[in-house]
Amino acid sequence: MPLPFELDHINLYVLEGDDGIYVVDTGLSSRKSKAIWEACFAQFNKPLLGVIVTHMHPDHSGLAGWLCREYDVPLYMSALEYFAARSIFGPNPMADLTTDKRYFTQAGVSQPDIEQYVRPRDTYTEGVEPLPLAFRRLRQGETLEIAGKQWQIMTFAGHSPEHVCLYCKAENLLIGGDQILPKISPNIGVYSQEPEANPLADYFASLTTLSNMPSDTLVLPSHNVPYTGLPDRAVELREHHETQLESLVTFCDSPRTLLECLPVMYKRTLSGRHMFFAIAECLSHLNYLMYASRLSRTMSDTGVYLYKQTGV
Ligand SMILES: [Zn+2]
Repeated sequence: MPLPFELDHINLYVLEGDDGIYVVDTGLSSRKSKAIWEACFAQFNKPLLGVIVTHMHPDHSGLAGWLCREYDVPLYMSALEYFAARSIFGPNPMADLTTDKRYFTQAGVSQPDIEQYVRPRDTYTEGVEPLPLAFRRLRQGETLEIAGKQWQIMTFAGHSPEHVCLYCKAENLLIGGDQILPKISPNIGVYSQEPEANPLADYFASLTTLSNMPSDTLVLPSHNVPYTGLPDRAVELREHHETQLESLVTFCDSPRTLLECLPVMYKRTLSGRHMFFAIAECLSHLNYLMYASRLSRTMSDTGVYLYKQTGV
């Protein structure tokens, strides 16, 4: 399914059984995406029985509301992903934006620039249709029969709060979502909702679990092509983050702001959407180092956090 970003596509999966089909993830809401789904359903010529969403991000959940409403089928999600999506993407016109602004101030972003990131929450997020008001909960460790096959539910944090992966042992298939991708590293971000979070520690834990899975398991990722070699890929991703962490510690030989740290992790010039995600990802690394006692954090007179090596 096309996406209007630099990452220009998302892979969606259809699980076909005798009685009908289930879809895994949905794409961003647009007229074009809806037409693609309609053409896809015409091809299968079987009823849609359910919509499974791996995690709340708009490219995965954007059309879930439309699909469930249009075809009158249940939505399957983990509880944290479902409720996070409903609260983050739904309108909340009375929301106080102080903590959103503070998050960017503490990172060292200038006041005029903060305005482009902090927006009133008075409408639904673009590209995300309102989610159904009820859902079916996916839980870690459960096995579900979907389209005639047994699928084990695995949930992981790090990239999003309770990301679902689906593992079919009989077929040796893992629908991996964004949790583990073949070419790119999924964004591990700390956002304004929980500025003291440590998702990189959660992500490392998920990589440990995934590295213990069979290396010939075929991983069906949300971006780029299916691949095998899960244990090696898990090690590669861990090393990628470890390298970033070490570079940050070295750079913080004197007190640095998050904004000053960005070029350590990103070689290109950042703006807009890229800047928003880069700040979140850099903060996940700085928080990780702080909790590991590798960096200490103090606050400047202007309310900006400064990070410095501890010598541990
Ligand atoms: Zn995602």
